[in-house]
Amino acid sequence: MKKETKSGAIQTDTFLAQIGNHQNPVTGSINTPIYFSTTYEHPTLGESTGYDYTRTKNPTREVVETALAVLENGAVGLATSSGMSAVQLVFSQFPVGSQIVASRDLYGGSYRYFKELEQQGIYQFIYVDDEAGFEKAITANTAAVFVETPTNPLMSEVSIEKIAILTKQSNAQLIVDNTFYTPLIQRPLDLGADIVVHSATKYLGGHNDLLAGAVITRSKELGEQLAFSLNTTGAVLSPFDSWLLIRGMKTLALRMERHEKNAQEVAAYLNTCDKVKEVLYPGRGGMLSFKISNQEWIKDFLRNLTIFTFAESLGGVESLITYPTTQTHADIPQELRESYGLTPDLLRISTGIESSEDLINDLRQAFEAVG
Ligand SMILES: *Cc1c(COP(=O)(O)O)cnc(C)c1O
Repeated sequence: MKKETKSGAIQTDTFLAQIGNHQNPVTGSINTPIYFSTTYEHPTLGESTGYDYTRTKNPTREVVETALAVLENGAVGLATSSGMSAVQLVFSQFPVGSQIVASRDLYGGSYRYFKELEQQGIYQFIYVDDEAGFEKAITANTAAVFVETPTNPLMSEVSIEKIAILTKQSNAQLIVDNTFYTPLIQRPLDLGADIVVHSATKYLGGHNDLLAGAVITRSKELGEQLAFSLNTTGAVLSPFDSWLLIRGMKTLALRMERHEKNAQEVAAYLNTCDKVKEVLYPGRGGMLSFKISNQEWIKDFLRNLTIFTFAESLGGVESLITYPTTQTHADIPQELRESYGLTPDLLRISTGIESSEDLINDLRQAFEAVG
């Protein structure tokens, strides 16, 4: 779907600020109304206003779903109750026994779900570390490839374009979890992916007050098939949460600019810090990780922070710091985690929209308090 008004194409930030506006000719309402009604009156037998029952279609959810499709340049957007229900919806389409190739350094919850699918004998998973790994693993037997780039929490990037060439050759579907970069930094469908998923709980929502997911497809057929599944199973986003997501997305462009600037400045500071062994930051986006010189300091370091909050999750206006070993990635067996570099000295930061000076001072005083 295209970003445009009656007079032509518009920029992404303009599109985002205007989500839901100019759509309510009866009242002129600028803000999208929240339609709580679960059911809709039919004019007569065999006729419908287009809305029957809210699981199938809801006017508030429809606004956010259209915006998601436009933003990722897809044909169909679907808003789900969480990022995990978005991942589950996408994985509901493959026949039992399918083989899936996935990034090894994954969101812990996706890894947990994939492990469950494997243990129930539903799918077989092959995990790979880098582009060479994808090249080797993707074959005619591959049904789908699931990629997170940058990876979480090690922040390494792979080329979606290169993987898309491989999936096309093998007739496999390419699914990209675009939660970390958002469509403002990376548009996977434009790079050849078939499906994008998001935890809209993170940057799209942006305020640590909403659990939501998104699925956007490149083709209309696949989108309609997934919409049918979503209506069948029911993990749709509620009208109120759809409204919160619209509200969050209106400021996404502004927020991403600040998240990124803060991450760049925090990364530059950490690179000069003698209590830091290694900084993992790809240069874009608002997420970074670092390895502290002595993991014994972690407890005191976290306790001494006064602006950063020690908590799971990411992508909100408040800066968060996460310890993946005991939080987001605790479900990945220790030996496996450590074998690919997710070591117990690693901390992950989601920079918020505060002043970078305050963020850096907070880190500095917490480092001074340890060791
Ligand atoms: C949080 C997250 C998810 C899961 O989303 P929920 O909204 O928590 O269900 C999936 N992928 C990534 C990359 C995430 O950060």
